[in-house]
Amino acid sequence: MTPALMKTPGFCRDCLAEQKADGRRCTSCGSPRLVRHDELYGLTLAHIDCDAFYASVEKRDNPDLADKPVIIGGGKRGVVSTACYIARIHGVRSAMPMFKALEACPQAVVIRPDMEKYVKVGREVRAMMQELTPLVQPLSIDEAFLELGGTERLHQDPPARTLAKFARRVEKEIGITVSVGLSYCKFLAKVASDLQKPRGFSVIGREEAVSFLAPRPVTTIWGVGKAFAATLEADGIRTIGQLQTMEETDLMRRYGSMGQRLSRLSRGIDDRDVHLNDPAKSVSSETTFFYDISRYDDLVPVLRGLSEKVAWRLKKGEIAGQTVVLKMKTADFKSRTRNRKLEDPTQLADRIFRTGIELLQKETDGTKFRLIGIGVTDLCDPHRADPRDLIDVQSGRRAAAEAAMDKLRDKFGKGAVETGYTFGGKRGQ
Ligand SMILES: [Mg+2]
Repeated sequence: MTPALMKTPGFCRDCLAEQKADGRRCTSCGSPRLVRHDELYGLTLAHIDCDAFYASVEKRDNPDLADKPVIIGGGKRGVVSTACYIARIHGVRSAMPMFKALEACPQAVVIRPDMEKYVKVGREVRAMMQELTPLVQPLSIDEAFLELGGTERLHQDPPARTLAKFARRVEKEIGITVSVGLSYCKFLAKVASDLQKPRGFSVIGREEAVSFLAPRPVTTIWGVGKAFAATLEADGIRTIGQLQTMEETDLMRRYGSMGQRLSRLSRGIDDRDVHLNDPAKSVSSETTFFYDISRYDDLVPVLRGLSEKVAWRLKKGEIAGQTVVLKMKTADFKSRTRNRKLEDPTQLADRIFRTGIELLQKETDGTKFRLIGIGVTDLCDPHRADPRDLIDVQSGRRAAAEAAMDKLRDKFGKGAVETGYTFGGKRGQ
C-alpha cells in the first residue's frame, strides 16, 4: 500500500478543505481545527449539543459580556442554571448554589433566565438540524440525536462534512456554538459530543470503542448515576474496563435489567435507533399492583409517586397540562376514568397529586383496584403554567419546595428525594 492510501481521512472545520497530508494545521488555511479519523466517512449517527446554551445566547445578545464570566441563575438564593466557559474556569458549575458560585467567581455577571428567548433560539437550531435529516430526535431544548445515513446524495457530502458545515452555519446565522459527536451508536455519539467542548467535533469509531471505554468511570454509561455508581463501587467496580471482563449473565444476576445495559454499553453495543419523538397528547404514569388495593390511605402514596413521575416528564419535556386524569382498573377489570380541568395548566407534582386525591376520594368506596394511574391532557406551552398564587401562600411554598427537590433530582437522580407520601410507601407494588 502506498503511504497516500494509508493516510487518515480528515478535513478542516474552518475552511472544509480535505487534508492530503498528515499535518497539525490545515494545508489550505492554516487552522488547527482539523478532524481526522479512519472511520470519518463511514459514520452517520450524531449527537449535537449547544455549548453553555443559555449563557451563549445572553452573550450573543450583549457583546459587552463576551469576555466576562456569566452565570444564568435565579438570584442569590437560587442555583446556577448555566455557567459560561469563563465562569467554569473559576470553578462555577451547573446546579451549584448561587452563593457558592459567587464565592468562587465574585466578578461574575448574573442573569436571570429568559426561557422564552432560549426556547425560541432552541427552535431555530432545531429547524436547521431538520434541514440536514428528517431523523432528528431532540433530548432537550439544546441537544438532539441525528441519523444522517442516506443523506449523502442530498447534501453532496458525507455526514461528517455536513455536520461541520452545520456547526459553521449555526455560528454564523444564530450566533452561538455547538459541539458535535459522531459515532455509530447513540451512546458513543453522546459521549463524543462532550469530549472537546466548546466548539468540539469528536469521532468515536467501531474499532476503538472497547479500548476507548475501558479506562473511563462507570458513570460514563448512560443511566449510571451517582447512586448506582456507589452500588458498583461497593462491589469493587469503578471502570468500564472491569465491566468488559464480566459475563452478561453475572451482571444480570447482580443488577437485573441494568446488568444487561452495563454489559452491552461497556462493549460499545447499543442498538437504539434515532427516532422521532411522538407528539404527545397526554403524559401519564400508572402502576399495576401485585395484589388488589381498596383503601384510600394505601392508594395515596402510590398516587403521589406517580404524580411526581408525570411532573418530572412534563418539566423535562417543557410542556404543561391543564386537565388531570385519574385512571383506575377494578379487580374485575372495569376501567374508571375521572377528569378535572384546572384553572391554569400545571407542571407541578403537587397540583396533579392534590387534584388526583380529590378525584380518588369519590372512588374509594370499598372497591378493590388492580391498577391506578394519573396523568394530564390538554397539553400546552409551559409559560402559562402555575402562576404565582398570591392568595394561597401554602401552594406557593409547596411549589418552591418542589423546585428545590427537582434540583436535587437533577443532580443526584430520580430516587434522591422522597416526599413523606412516597417514603417507604411502596405497598402493594
Ligand atoms: Mg448543552
